[in-house]
Amino acid sequence: MDRFVYKIGDSLYVNLTNRCSNSCDFCVRNYDVDHKHGYEGYDLWLHSEPSAAQVCEQASAELDAHPEIDEVVFCGFGEPTYRMAEICAVADFAHARGLRTRINTNGQGSEINDRDISADIVDHIDTVGVSLNATDPDKYDAICHSVYGKRGFEIMLDFARACVARGGNVVFSVVDIIGDGEIAKAKAIADSIGAKLRVRKMIDGQDR
Ligand code: SF4
Repeated sequence: MDRFVYKIGDSLYVNLTNRCSNSCDFCVRNYDVDHKHGYEGYDLWLHSEPSAAQVCEQASAELDAHPEIDEVVFCGFGEPTYRMAEICAVADFAHARGLRTRINTNGQGSEINDRDISADIVDHIDTVGVSLNATDPDKYDAICHSVYGKRGFEIMLDFARACVARGGNVVFSVVDIIGDGEIAKAKAIADSIGAKLRVRKMIDGQDR
């Protein structure tokens, strides 16, 4: 049986898809090409994408076994916004159990779904983590290799702006290896949009 949820600290992570519109240089998937090593000890490669009911079944078992869990995070091995219906259903399940919800997204979900998903995200997700990664389209494309090319950067920023406009709690992330100058530019971008900025440590090549 594939693993649809996995626990790190007091958070339960939800793994909905292997698909992603980016191919980031630092993605953990690059370090697990044979899908045998997994992440944090978990094998996260999916052989089929789960239904919301399958996720909730595995989540219930983990929550019953670990009452300290206080947050559900949509993250996993791919870009979660490929599965919007499942995100909304599982987020409703999490809120009904008194848990907070968070997503880690590349911010390209509105393009992926061919509609503005910001309302669904803000309605269901308490913290919207968006991987900023870089400070302009050229640098972003050089690292993230979006299927949308250099447009991927603006698509991501537009999504963040739309979520902030709807009252969402948006937190951009960058990895500390980009250096102090780029971090300062990233902070200026976040401030201009009304988002927060989280500077993550580069650990095992992964920014999730
Ligand atoms: S790091 Fe995230 S956005 Fe980048 S390729 Fe991996 S799953 Fe996709």
